[in-house]
Amino acid sequence: MVLREKLVKGFKEGVVVPEGLIAHGRGECFDYILGEETIAPALKAEKAAAAALLLARHPVISVNGNTASLAAEEVVKLAEEVGAKIEVNLFYRTEERAAKIREVLMRAGAKEVLGVEDATATIPELESERRRVSPEGILKADVVLVPLEDGDRTEALRRLGKTVIAVDLNPLSRTSRAASITIVDNVVRALPKIRAFARELKGYTDKDKRKIIDEYDNEAILKETLRHIKERLDSLTQQGISLNLLPRN
Ligand code: ATP
Ligand code: MG
Repeated sequence: MVLREKLVKGFKEGVVVPEGLIAHGRGECFDYILGEETIAPALKAEKAAAAALLLARHPVISVNGNTASLAAEEVVKLAEEVGAKIEVNLFYRTEERAAKIREVLMRAGAKEVLGVEDATATIPELESERRRVSPEGILKADVVLVPLEDGDRTEALRRLGKTVIAVDLNPLSRTSRAASITIVDNVVRALPKIRAFARELKGYTDKDKRKIIDEYDNEAILKETLRHIKERLDSLTQQGISLNLLPRN
């Protein structure tokens, strides 16, 4: 409920688009099925994501309207923890909305936000406004964290050879299946968890961080996620789910 209110506020301020509200509803549905908690495979993906961000030469966190409304402060804190740049990148881009999102991030403590006036480079294979990125940010990045991204763009970033870390509650979306590391968790839970892992992994050698990434298998994590959902639904089926504590009249 708190999340919905944040999005509605973002919508009224012109930070969130109507399509963003629909995407949130789709996310809520999957979160309900997961039990609104971080499941074990997501934790493994969050740890691998932290290792990838720490080892990256040019890590970037890509921010859209929903992410800015739900988790601006967490984006800023994570960026600081792993030394990543923050870039506004919008599916439905207008210059006004990009500037408003930068404003939200600056109010949350960001010192620099790319992707507004400097979004002069283009990502091949995407049409017009969706492909505009900053030459100092996503264009140059080796690792990009994309909370709530669209499938086409995830695929385009992968084709450019980038490591793409997606946060998406839908394990079946094209984004989830195309990403290098897929975190099936709510963005508001995922970002602080990645940050906690990053703090912990700072004590590791680069070799040990590399080992975490090398041992990480995204396909296996997605399968584990589907299995978790199946088992949860099976166990609810066996227990019964009727709200039999409600008065009958
Ligand atoms: P794709 O293009 O990847 O196949 P899609 O078209 O169904 O997916 P988009 O609108 O492009 O979806 O992306 C939004 C995605 O973000 C959805 O899959 C939705 O489940 C997910 N999502 C929405 N809100 C959240 C949230 N708070 N945390 C994590 N994921 C979320
Ligand atoms: Mg899509």
